Amino acid sequence: MIRCNVLIIGSGLAGLSAAVRLREMGVEDIIILERMSGGQYEHYHRTCGEAISDRMVSLAGIGRDCAIRSIDSATIACGSVDIHIHTKGIIIDRVELLKVMRESSGCKVARASVRTVKRADDGYIAETEDEEYHCKYLIGADGAFSVVRKNLFGYRPEVKMAAVNNLVEGNSETAEIRFFVSPQYPGSYRWDFPSKDGLRSVGYMQGTDEVTDYVEQGIRFIVTGTNRTVVKDNCCIVGDAALLANPLSYGGIGAALLSGRKAAESIAKGDLSGYQKWVSKNLMFNPHFMQAYYTFKEWDQSEFDDATAPFLSGSNLLLLRGLYAVLRRPKWANVYMSIWMGFKYCW
Ligand SMILES: Cc1cc2nc3c(=O)[nH]c(=O)nc-3n(C[C@H](O)[C@H](O)[C@H](O)COP(=O)(O)OP(=O)(O)OC[C@H]3O[C@@H](n4cnc5c(N)ncnc54)[C@H](O)[C@@H]3O)c2cc1C
Repeated sequence: MIRCNVLIIGSGLAGLSAAVRLREMGVEDIIILERMSGGQYEHYHRTCGEAISDRMVSLAGIGRDCAIRSIDSATIACGSVDIHIHTKGIIIDRVELLKVMRESSGCKVARASVRTVKRADDGYIAETEDEEYHCKYLIGADGAFSVVRKNLFGYRPEVKMAAVNNLVEGNSETAEIRFFVSPQYPGSYRWDFPSKDGLRSVGYMQGTDEVTDYVEQGIRFIVTGTNRTVVKDNCCIVGDAALLANPLSYGGIGAALLSGRKAAESIAKGDLSGYQKWVSKNLMFNPHFMQAYYTFKEWDQSEFDDATAPFLSGSNLLLLRGLYAVLRRPKWANVYMSIWMGFKYCW
């Protein structure tokens, strides 16, 4: 049995963000377990649009060294209507960011796939094929199909979708991220983001669309939900393990980085309840987003036309148009508001 103070399962953005923050706060004796390595690990983490807002970059304290592109606007394209939203962010080189975070944490990352976790009298035990790890604090940063969530929290994702990300040849110099919405993509969208080296990231939920001329293709699950129990005694779940991605935009990078950081700060203080309070009160994780998702998912073509009509003549004075849309179409108010809040605070 290997013993440590803090065991982190998963070395994605959430797990490494927690590790970096724990070390910054002087916590020692940390082990990270990661089931993947090399090309498989990099491919998994490259399967992503890699877009994150400037706001999140600043809150997560990651700096802009791993930025490959600056973003200054998002466009929602719905048939002949293009809604332009001014929003600032970056496209990150996610694999590079993970490497930088791993190095700056100075933590040992052991290659191991955790099969089960359980409570022990004085902490937690994680079992892998070859070894048992005993820890005082346990952080589940093990993504969409979290063993920690399943074994110790006992709940499942409310929404689970296989997303396909394609790297295709195209103009990677643009500063705009584009979302295509229509009944073809129920409750979701097709995205088209700039990437690097003459490539673009084009993606959709599996079965809603197809791209054949890709340079690289990856499929990963996006999960989300409204159960906000993220702490039990000295164990917590962060990032996708805690279903923290936004149900409308599916932005989860910022939530992963911030939740890892907040969990670490609470562990450093010896009391995880601060992390639970942060999640419970944070606007990012408000249940209104999930309600908006369920409404939006049911829209047929006439409802898309109706909802976008206030924006037909352009996107100037967007705030006023949005206000007019909310007043004239109160049944869609939560969707309008959630999209607006999503771009402002949740990516
Ligand atoms: C196609 C796609 C595009 C996306 N685009 C964006 C975007 O543009 N912007 C945005 O903000 N969000 C985006 N997201 C969401 C974002 O990628 C996730 O929310 C984010 O990766 C969550 O990070 P995480 O560290 O919590 O989990 P993960 O990135 O899933 O990392 C979990 C880690 O844990 C490891 N692990 C899992 N189980 C075990 C185990 N049993 N034992 C040991 N290790 C384990 C995994 O190998 C992995 O390395 C996208 C998601 C997808 C699928």
